Amino acid sequence: MKATLSTRIADLPRVGPVLTKRLQKLGLETVADLLWHYPFRYQDFSVISDIVALHQHSEATITGQITLIANKRAFRRRMYVTEAIITDDTGSIKAVWFNQPFITKLLKQGDTAYFSGKVEMTKYGLQLVSPTYEKVKKEQSHTARIVPVYSLTEKLTEKQIRYLIRLVLPLAKDMPDWLPEDIRTEYKLIPLGHALREIHYPTNKQTLVQARTRLKFNELLLVQLTAESMRQHIRQRPAPAIPFDEQQTREFVASLPFTLTDDQRTAAWTILKDIAEPHPMNRLLQGDVGSGKTVVATIAMLNAISRGYQAALMAPTEILALQHYQTITQMLRRDERIALITRSQKLLNDTPVSSKVITEAIERHDVDIIIGTHSLIQSSVTFSSIGLVVIDEQHRFGVDQRKQLKYQARDTTQVPHLLSMTATPIPRSLALTVYGDLDVSTIAELPKGRKKIITKIVPPEKREAAYGFLRKEIQSGRQVFVICPLIDESDKLGVKAATAEYERLQRHIFPDLHVGLLHGKLKAADKETAMRDFQEKKTDILVATAVVEVGIDIPNASVMMIEGAERFGLAQLHQFRGRVGRAEHQSYCLVFTDSDSDKTLERLTALVEAKNGFELAEKDLEFRGPGDLYGIRQSGFPELKIATLADTQIIQHTRSVAKRIIADDPKLKQFPQVRERLERFAEQIHPE
Ligand code: ADP
Ligand code: MG
Repeated sequence: MKATLSTRIADLPRVGPVLTKRLQKLGLETVADLLWHYPFRYQDFSVISDIVALHQHSEATITGQITLIANKRAFRRRMYVTEAIITDDTGSIKAVWFNQPFITKLLKQGDTAYFSGKVEMTKYGLQLVSPTYEKVKKEQSHTARIVPVYSLTEKLTEKQIRYLIRLVLPLAKDMPDWLPEDIRTEYKLIPLGHALREIHYPTNKQTLVQARTRLKFNELLLVQLTAESMRQHIRQRPAPAIPFDEQQTREFVASLPFTLTDDQRTAAWTILKDIAEPHPMNRLLQGDVGSGKTVVATIAMLNAISRGYQAALMAPTEILALQHYQTITQMLRRDERIALITRSQKLLNDTPVSSKVITEAIERHDVDIIIGTHSLIQSSVTFSSIGLVVIDEQHRFGVDQRKQLKYQARDTTQVPHLLSMTATPIPRSLALTVYGDLDVSTIAELPKGRKKIITKIVPPEKREAAYGFLRKEIQSGRQVFVICPLIDESDKLGVKAATAEYERLQRHIFPDLHVGLLHGKLKAADKETAMRDFQEKKTDILVATAVVEVGIDIPNASVMMIEGAERFGLAQLHQFRGRVGRAEHQSYCLVFTDSDSDKTLERLTALVEAKNGFELAEKDLEFRGPGDLYGIRQSGFPELKIATLADTQIIQHTRSVAKRIIADDPKLKQFPQVRERLERFAEQIHPE
């Protein structure tokens, strides 16, 4: 039988049902699958040493003749020891293996072979300990070269998989190379078949680098082509054009108690230009905590409603939705009709109403701005004429939720404009890949007059002193946040932890002060009371779970105290810290941890030292990897097999290539193979 790329592994010589099953566990069914199964690391056995030159505590490869080989029983240790003497032109050395008596069947006296392994000193002289062995052949697979190491499931051996890869490697040249020749030349990329051969059995280190570069390029180009074609797809849909209402906007901006920063102006301007187009905006507004994104979104919403459209704003928590409702109502202070929809609360122009009343009002266009949480999606609201959707902290929402909101419009032929906002700055590499289909605006500068927040890591023995400091701040009129982590698994929302801390502080530490408690399990009314009491300075200290992470605005609070800081990610800690320092008062972030691990300390030190959220985001990416941090898993982004987000240069190259390809040929007619790959790739992204 002549094998091809689509031949099933089961039909290859020397492959039985057991091996087939084990390979299936790795997702390997066909010859092509094997070729796409890259090694996860390599062992460099390419240098052949003379036996005389070996020295202890090294790894080496030698070649020589087996002058003696035998099995022995080691009595005391109850095991088999296989011993061999290997001789080359320069000398001899003993090799030993444990509990592998079958070796004497594979290697015979007089055979010439390669041996790669550890060299150790014993009382009988230097020995090779459990070396990998391979007879001298036309092509070596396990020794005397850079050897691939594959990730395996239980019971598969490296030798088995290397055997199979070696067997099918000649077919690598048949793998269709869909990368256009001119791009390959421009970026000096080697042909695909060549790259596949070299990724498994590299000729040397340079060819391995070339192979990796080529395969990363492929992977990232597919990511970019997907993003770019999605972006073009959205671009082609019709959207309500919302012309800039200059007068209203000017009046609104003039009515604010502050002047906009330059970045806020630029962002607002870009957004207003976007929504004036008859095609949907898909823009991410990123800006550090406290940089003033809300007002920028409000400007956009104001324009939408002044042109007769509705605008919706979605927030990740009830508290935040309520706060947005309050600040936006206050900022606008005109005749706009504003609704709040959360699971437990429905307000229409400040009056509590039923779901039914609010839904009907939205359908009749008796409401201009709708602010809510996920409930907005889950409810059966149909917008009468939605022009703009704003999503705050967009990384907390999945793509599907975002899509669904878009299609809740009565007129489904038009797609509303979408503005996403995030205070978790996205490192550039991520912005270019995962969010490649978004346009990005950044608010980098904070409003003037904000003082740098002083961040301190507080060791356990300084806790008392820290409490003394809190008391002083409170005495001078400030307020304090205390954030508690989850302490046990069953306490999913951290209710127990926060409640216990609340009681401890109120009873034992600050019996004379007013302590408040806020967590996700409270009834909406109680949450609101807790928030309001803190806003109105009826409470001095607010003990909370991570729910305060996003958005809450209490300018009078000057201390953010974080318990169990090692349990939070850097981006999250930075978010907490952003809750203070929102007014002219010098503010502090006190970070408590009982952990003395170096890693924790290193991370927390990064928090102390980082100049801004962007720097921290890059650090976080380094420490924890992209993981779930940026909602990547939710975004349906496929796992990268060989490229990483650190491949910034290739990311940039593939991005510009993708733009070029799609601009010339949006349907990819010239690249049927790319299109086919892309369709399969898109399936991976949206399995349904
Ligand atoms: P975030 O970007 O974190 O959502 P907010 O929109 O909540 O920030 O704004 C934080 C605070 O800064 C609010 O109290 C807001 O009124 C205020 N603010 C916004 N823009 C400015 C500005 N240009 N100058 C001064 N204060 C501002
Ligand atoms: Mg915000």
